[in-house]
Amino acid sequence: MSEHAVVLGAGCTGPLVGVLLARRGLRVSLYERRADARRVALPAGRSINLALAARGIAALERAGLLEAIRPLLMPMRGRMVHDADGTARFLPYGQRPHELLYAVSRAGLNHVLVDAAEAAGVALHFEHACRGADFARGQVEIEDLAAGLRFELPMGPLLAADGSGSALRQAMVAAGVATAREDTLAHRYKELTIPAAADGSHRLALGALHIWPRGGYMLIALPNVDGTFTATLFLPAEGEPVSFAALAAPAAARVLFERDFPDVLALLPDFEAQYAANPVGRMSTIHARPWHAGGQALLLGDAAHAIVPFHGQGMNCAFEDCRVLDDLLGGSPDWTACFARFDALRREDTAAIARMAIENYTEMRDTVRDPAFALQKELSLELERRRPDRFIPRYSMVMFHSEIPYAEAERRGALQAELLARATRGRRHLGDVPLEPLLEEIDARLAPLSAPAA
Ligand SMILES: Cc1cc2nc3c(=O)[nH]c(=O)nc-3n(C[C@H](O)[C@H](O)[C@H](O)COP(=O)(O)OP(=O)(O)OC[C@H]3O[C@@H](n4cnc5c(N)ncnc54)[C@H](O)[C@@H]3O)c2cc1C
Repeated sequence: MSEHAVVLGAGCTGPLVGVLLARRGLRVSLYERRADARRVALPAGRSINLALAARGIAALERAGLLEAIRPLLMPMRGRMVHDADGTARFLPYGQRPHELLYAVSRAGLNHVLVDAAEAAGVALHFEHACRGADFARGQVEIEDLAAGLRFELPMGPLLAADGSGSALRQAMVAAGVATAREDTLAHRYKELTIPAAADGSHRLALGALHIWPRGGYMLIALPNVDGTFTATLFLPAEGEPVSFAALAAPAAARVLFERDFPDVLALLPDFEAQYAANPVGRMSTIHARPWHAGGQALLLGDAAHAIVPFHGQGMNCAFEDCRVLDDLLGGSPDWTACFARFDALRREDTAAIARMAIENYTEMRDTVRDPAFALQKELSLELERRRPDRFIPRYSMVMFHSEIPYAEAERRGALQAELLARATRGRRHLGDVPLEPLLEEIDARLAPLSAPAA
């Protein structure tokens, strides 16, 4: 294998893949368009905090970075659903001690990853943007933004972790090396920060991801270590009466909050200022094929397969990419074979999580309000208790079981959903559901999972 690897992007994926490559003895140079976020305060750009789950944790453990990140983690054991009548109910995500998610600051996590890349010997070049690539000559074009100079570097290998708008992916498409499509969701998001109380404590209950589902739209909030919460409002982009277009003026948005989210409005003393200042973000799914240009370049993370954020899996999936690539580097004799194998291995799984992420939006903003949903959740936890090797709720398979591929979680989840819907139809309480025939059907239709549930 070549001794020098180029990495594009110092977001979530780039520094992690840089660490893993450097630990395999490669010389690694990383080029990032922005300034060094450890020294200059940058606008968050996208979500201020993220949910970290099993797949991300497994990859961070592989790189030996979990302990450095642990102080940044805020545990979330379930959803706190705030209904329109002002009541709140807690729906646990799972039933085992380790079945929880962690809210983590994007900036904090990024600092740890970039420090780790530097410590592993990765040469970091900030304010250097990829401007294109020539695949016939095997060169990538980089612009030094501070100096205003452009230069070329040999690819082979180049790992492109330059995000959902990837310049390298665009260069692959322009050169006819790949095709790509972006499906933009008709909904957008805006973040608002709920400040800490005067004594520094959090102003919403800890241990949960808070959701205010309102049917066609929703508000969520995740905790930060500094006592604040980051709230994210998801609305349609256009349309009447509730959309970002219709509620462009903060005064109009206040009317929505007074009606639908009055408890949150009470925690936002500077609502109008934040609403006016904070940007409205887009959410897309990227479909690209192939992800590699021979052994010259490979797209990773959002550059290859960005997804919408409703399963909290984009970064987790990107980190899993890094772990899978690291496994392949252990065994494969050349980059071309390794990249082709990566593409073949990850395609079905990333397509599955892209679909599940879109489905989860409907669940979070709407289905979660339905009493039938709560009964199905309750039943699925009961079935998991009784058949832990065969029945694991789909959400748990995705979030807590890194050993179960996404595509398998989707397949088993579809079958389980059918059983749950049938068993709970017309019923209101778990005690009314006849369990024995259901368990027999599970034994007949759901093969035991290869790795038994911990
Ligand atoms: C609102 C929202 C909430 C989310 N919540 C979650 C969550 O809870 N859990 C989760 O797992 N995921 C979540 N995600 C998804 C997650 O943010 C992404 O999947 C993750 O950031 C992907 O990492 P990446 O390194 O591939 O891309 P990015 O993190 O976007 O990093 C790309 C980097 O490349 C740099 N770059 C761009 N162009 C160039 C260029 N031409 N040359 C050089 N550098 C370049 C960028 O500056 C950036 O630093 C969320 C996303 C959004 C939008």
